[in-house]
Amino acid sequence: MNIDQYAVFGHPISHSKSPLIHSLFAAQTGQTLQYTAHDVPAEQFQRTADHFFRNGVKGLNCTVPLKELAWQYASQLTERARAAKAVNTLAWQADGSILGDNTDGMGLVRDLVQNHDISLAGQHILILGAGGASRGIIAPILAEHPADLVIANRTLSKAQAIVNEFSHLGSIRAHTFAELAHQRFDLILNATSTSLNNELPPLPQGLLDERSYCYDLAYGEEPTTFVRWGLAHGARKCLDGLGMLVEQAAEAFYVWRGIRPDTQAVIDRLNNERSAF
Ligand code: NDP
Repeated sequence: MNIDQYAVFGHPISHSKSPLIHSLFAAQTGQTLQYTAHDVPAEQFQRTADHFFRNGVKGLNCTVPLKELAWQYASQLTERARAAKAVNTLAWQADGSILGDNTDGMGLVRDLVQNHDISLAGQHILILGAGGASRGIIAPILAEHPADLVIANRTLSKAQAIVNEFSHLGSIRAHTFAELAHQRFDLILNATSTSLNNELPPLPQGLLDERSYCYDLAYGEEPTTFVRWGLAHGARKCLDGLGMLVEQAAEAFYVWRGIRPDTQAVIDRLNNERSAF
């Protein structure tokens, strides 16, 4: 019997939890599949993806720094991938075409709203960062009808470009970090890559109070720099992106297999392996 093959491409990739997550989903749902991780630098992406699909792979996940290349590679795009201009899930179709999807935004919103009961409706929300992850989460967040959404980025022009593209979906503004002074938010999402280097964006005082939530899209074995910043500034709750990781994987699994796994069991398992939490 041929086993359906899936893989994640990224650079670096050795830290990836995706093979474990998808093997847990497969065991839980009684699906037979194999999911492997591959270190693929940007310049080798197209050749390697061609090779995998030619050899019968049914789907690929793409992570840093390949999401924009995957968006260009796909022969068809879902609406959410078209809006994000970034693809994290490629799915082989029966007619030989490759569908590109972006499950990051749905993964984040599911983690916030369903797993942590954090409603976004009517809330003042700040996103730090205007890279690929930020682009992927904006439309799903605006679909929850926040009161307003501010995008703050080191390079203001990138935040302004996002505002221009997404302003038809809701109230959205672009700021530098310095312009955030004297503003308070109900939810601050860190979509910069600063936590990966144990750094923080230059954030002014007073952005949050004891009712505010902080969420770092990054995650690690220990609380990230941004999670620790939120705790030190008295936030109500500070979360990292492990739940989002599992939820975006579950949505990719659904795109590929048509079955939605139980994510909480997998999140619990991964959390139990993190001694510092
Ligand atoms: P990109 O490289 O596309 O974007 C990086 C962003 O971080 C840019 O806005 C950049 O600003 C900003 N930035 C980088 N360094 C600094 C700094 N020193 N000070 C201030 N801003 C800085 O990365 P992604 O958008 O793909 O990823 C962002 C984060 O989201 C990563 O930590 C990634 O791991 C995480 N992520 C988590 C997922 C999950 O499932 N949990 C899914 C997807 C991403 P500028 O534009 O000025 O360069």
